[in-house]
Amino acid sequence: MPETAVHVTLLEKSPHPTAMTATAARTCYSAHEPAAIAQRWERKPDDMVQTVDRVRSAGHHSTLEHNIYVFGVTGLSRAATHQLVRHRHLQFDQQSQRYLAFKDADFPYVKPKRLSSLPELSARFDALMREIGETYQALLAAGLPGEDARFVLPNAAASQLVVSGNARAWYEFLTLRTCNMAQWEIREMAFAVLRILKREDPVLFRDAGATCVRGYCHEPNGPECPRYISVIKAQIDGAKKAEHWLAGRRNGTRTTS
Ligand SMILES: Cc1cc2nc3c(=O)[nH]c(=O)nc-3n(C[C@H](O)[C@H](O)[C@H](O)COP(=O)(O)OP(=O)(O)OC[C@H]3O[C@@H](n4cnc5c(N)ncnc54)[C@H](O)[C@@H]3O)c2cc1C
Repeated sequence: MPETAVHVTLLEKSPHPTAMTATAARTCYSAHEPAAIAQRWERKPDDMVQTVDRVRSAGHHSTLEHNIYVFGVTGLSRAATHQLVRHRHLQFDQQSQRYLAFKDADFPYVKPKRLSSLPELSARFDALMREIGETYQALLAAGLPGEDARFVLPNAAASQLVVSGNARAWYEFLTLRTCNMAQWEIREMAFAVLRILKREDPVLFRDAGATCVRGYCHEPNGPECPRYISVIKAQIDGAKKAEHWLAGRRNGTRTTS
């Protein structure tokens, strides 16, 4: 039974992220004090949205950094949490395998979905997890502390964490980890985060996601991705339009397409 799946919960967030980013952005160009700027957004919500859209698409992303989001993540394998903690601008507290010893042989683990089409190997996988759990319990029963017994636990062992970060750090995380080239499990987690952030603050995270959402591909293995051809085609069409527009300017004629 102890198979598990990733689950992401928003625990805390800054109270007014879109207004905060708009205030930070406008402070750069305004003679007014930040407190006065912050008060204008209730009267001028469209202006707030335009301001945020402009700084976000211009890459003026320091303005996103004033907003914090804290997530609880459960059911992520140790293989995936090792990838997650590589993101140096996020902050982590992770369940310890040293202080928390599993009570019986049935420790929670993540099984790749691809195994569902290989029933024999899937059963072997489960049997191996069971054997590992039993060995783990035997080590504890022999008096070894959790910090030693955990050496037999696999990459598949499930973990849980509290992960926090500012909006910019999450934006960068989503760029890399919602990409089709990212590993499936951290990608599932990233999409769960993306869905929550888009629901909570749709303006701030309007174009969050892999770079293809913003019209190009950053990934060297991009040609393996099913979206690649359409992204490149859109880029070529964009380049043709720009060429046409420039030619029009050189000839003194104005074109709109
Ligand atoms: C598809 C994929 C495959 C991967 N494969 C491997 C692999 O085979 N082996 C492996 O080890 N890792 C691998 N990684 C992890 C990857 O190398 C990064 O460690 C991880 O994605 C975090 O990215 P980051 O360093 O850009 O992010 P962060 O640590 O969150 O940093 C964000 C940004 O801040 C800046 N920054 C952060 N720290 C510094 C610094 N010290 N100096 C200058 N600028 C800094 C950079 O602009 C950076 O992009 C893979 C990642 C992906 C998405």
